[in-house]
Amino acid sequence: MQNPKEIAVVGAGLVGTLLAIYLKKAGHIVHVYDRSPDIRTVEFSGRSINLVMSNRGWKTLEDIGLEDEIRKIGIPVDKRGIHLKDGTFTTQNYGKEGEAIFSLSRGVLNRRMIDLAEEAGVKFMFNRKIWDVSLATATLYEGETEQGEWSPLKYDMVFGADGAFSRIRHRMQRQSMFDYSQEFMKLGYKELHIPANPDGTHKIDKNSLHIWPRGNFMLMALSNLDGSFTCTLFMPFEGENSFEQLKDEATLVDFFANYFSDTKEVIPDLVRDFFKNPTSYLAIMKCYPWTYEDKVALIGDSSHAIVPFYGQGMNAGFEDISVLNEMMNKYGDDWKTIFAEYQKSRKPNADAIAELSRRNFVEMSSKTADEKFLLQKKIEKWFSDKHPDKWLPLYSRVTFSLQPYAEALAIGDRQNEIMEEILSMEHIEENWQTEVVEHRILSLLAEKMS
Ligand SMILES: Cc1cc2nc3c(=O)[nH]c(=O)nc-3n(C[C@H](O)[C@H](O)[C@H](O)COP(=O)(O)OP(=O)(O)OC[C@H]3O[C@@H](n4cnc5c(N)ncnc54)[C@H](O)[C@@H]3O)c2cc1C
Repeated sequence: MQNPKEIAVVGAGLVGTLLAIYLKKAGHIVHVYDRSPDIRTVEFSGRSINLVMSNRGWKTLEDIGLEDEIRKIGIPVDKRGIHLKDGTFTTQNYGKEGEAIFSLSRGVLNRRMIDLAEEAGVKFMFNRKIWDVSLATATLYEGETEQGEWSPLKYDMVFGADGAFSRIRHRMQRQSMFDYSQEFMKLGYKELHIPANPDGTHKIDKNSLHIWPRGNFMLMALSNLDGSFTCTLFMPFEGENSFEQLKDEATLVDFFANYFSDTKEVIPDLVRDFFKNPTSYLAIMKCYPWTYEDKVALIGDSSHAIVPFYGQGMNAGFEDISVLNEMMNKYGDDWKTIFAEYQKSRKPNADAIAELSRRNFVEMSSKTADEKFLLQKKIEKWFSDKHPDKWLPLYSRVTFSLQPYAEALAIGDRQNEIMEEILSMEHIEENWQTEVVEHRILSLLAEKMS
């Protein structure tokens, strides 16, 4: 337990809510402000946006005793299900036997976590818009509108868990020596829906993350507990095969018949959903520093918004909380050191997962349908089964281990160089499971990893 402080968390999203539970359990008075209504009172209208949780997220939940509670509302997903253009369906396991990521409804998860936070004694204030913060005094300013009157809310400490377009970061940006970058992708996304069968079962395998890889665009689908799937179409805004081209019903139906023919039966409301649902943007945001003295800290998407292709945004935000907690345990009431060490530890890892996520679009949208890539995966699995202490594939490092992202990225790059050499060996397609290949990998490992 630390000396109790009055702490405000701005943002009742996934990261802010879990952070609030940690702070409350450490002995503080915790108030969470969110500009939106209480998500528990909002109807989802049967649709839900979902995301995947992997080991880093689970670890943060486990350390505070919430893992079992949350696993109940998830579906294990242990493989990619690849839908090729010619209608062929294949699968690729994500990890070893028994390893899986979990598909969770974001709304259901957020509701459950707010319940758990309230049970722990956290106080939530919904429909409260925070417009500014005084960094030196940890005072928030709230009001109905940006131009209207604001009231001060004084705290000992403020956490900005207010997402990619954070107002708390906005204030920090106006300090000298504050680095900030924002990059919008040329790629957007739109959500579509596969409803459940009449008996509530799933129409396609619920334990696969389904991908329709088509080069510069792709469709993916993740299962929900109610038997439905949330599909996401990722494609460029402009140019060939882009949102710009899918202007009318006939073009859209033709496009889907051509590229995603096996979805005809399972996405009955394609036209309605496509033209009703918004096309959303993706952006990468980076900044530094993340903290101000012992008063204000950013956490989650407010400090590092990334693209979703590794399924790690929330997981990385949860890992921020684990690291902050580690520093709280180490440095007691010395919040200046806690904040300094927290940001120092997290920043290189946030940058690394931003890079890994950006690269993973190419892996998902193109490589999953590429023979050479599939052979590489087979060789990696075969070698890793033989020498588990010498080779852990990059996906497993990121998803099923707690190795810092920056280390995973660096080792993954060296592993990739090794695989490029192996794939260039003569007749590798026939000879990949041989001692020659095994010894070549071992000697390259000795050369490159030492
Ligand atoms: C399409 C897509 C798929 C994704 N899939 C995955 C996945 O599979 N796995 C994964 O780990 N991550 C995934 N992510 C990323 C994940 O959604 C985010 O990293 C995560 O939601 C960030 O949580 P957060 O609490 O930091 O921010 P948010 O969820 O954005 O929450 C911020 C909260 O702050 C509130 N707020 C904002 N401004 C103010 C203000 N001025 N005053 C008061 N309140 C305010 C908002 O109302 C909101 O409730 C995905 C993201 C996208 C876009």
